[in-house]
Amino acid sequence: MFFILPRPRVRSTILNCPTLKVGALGTHNALGLAKAKRASFILASTSEAYGDPLVHPQKEDYWGNVNPIGPRGVYDEAKRFAEAMTMAYHRYHKIDTKILRIFNTYGPRMRLQDGRVVPAFISQALAGRPLTVFGNGSQTRSFCYVSDLIDGIFKLATSDFHEPVNLGNPREMTIKQFADEIIRITGTKSTIEYKPLPEDDPKVRQPDISRAKKILGWEPRVSFEEGITQTIKYFRESLKSD
Ligand code: UDP
Repeated sequence: MFFILPRPRVRSTILNCPTLKVGALGTHNALGLAKAKRASFILASTSEAYGDPLVHPQKEDYWGNVNPIGPRGVYDEAKRFAEAMTMAYHRYHKIDTKILRIFNTYGPRMRLQDGRVVPAFISQALAGRPLTVFGNGSQTRSFCYVSDLIDGIFKLATSDFHEPVNLGNPREMTIKQFADEIIRITGTKSTIEYKPLPEDDPKVRQPDISRAKKILGWEPRVSFEEGITQTIKYFRESLKSD
């Protein structure tokens, strides 16, 4: 069995009760099914398990810095509960489980309006509208191209490793740098418009992937330039056919 809780989007929908229920109770139900069928179970967890991290880059043995009652708490705590539950089913019910912590991922077939920064900036740039940078843009993210992530998931799925594994691209940049890159690569005349930073928005995020390298022999191969060019091409075509 392969269980993935999709990242809940649009942004406004991340802050709600179903996010918590699906992530926590949904994982419990799915683990029960895996137990009944003696199936393998893969939990698609998240870098959000580290919250607004005080350790940088983030290693799997860092326990995180999460505000349980903040607007992102419903997502972060659901995933942390899901990880605890998954390890418990592995330890007590001897289920073959895997846990991956997915860092920011991008690529073709993202939804144009899902509220994440990659679709937001690309669609704004292609429409010639200002790119909406939240805060002063000094917060960092590390973007992994989708095919690299899939490769990592496959390698983890076929391994016999049960502790969490970070999957992401360690190439870190600020959101302002990211906006500048999108403006440069699309050749748009768009400007940058600064908007308020959402509450509890993590200030930094960068995976330490030494565990994935050691256990899975995995590391990302697609460069930022190559991945973002493919993604922009996809968005251009989608916007045309809209
Ligand atoms: N962000 C931004 N403008 C947008 C959308 C997002 O500046 O139009 C910022 C957001 O505040 C965060 C970063 O980009 O600091 C990544 O946001 P995203 O929602 O893509 O992912 P996450 O915050 O979950 O890493």
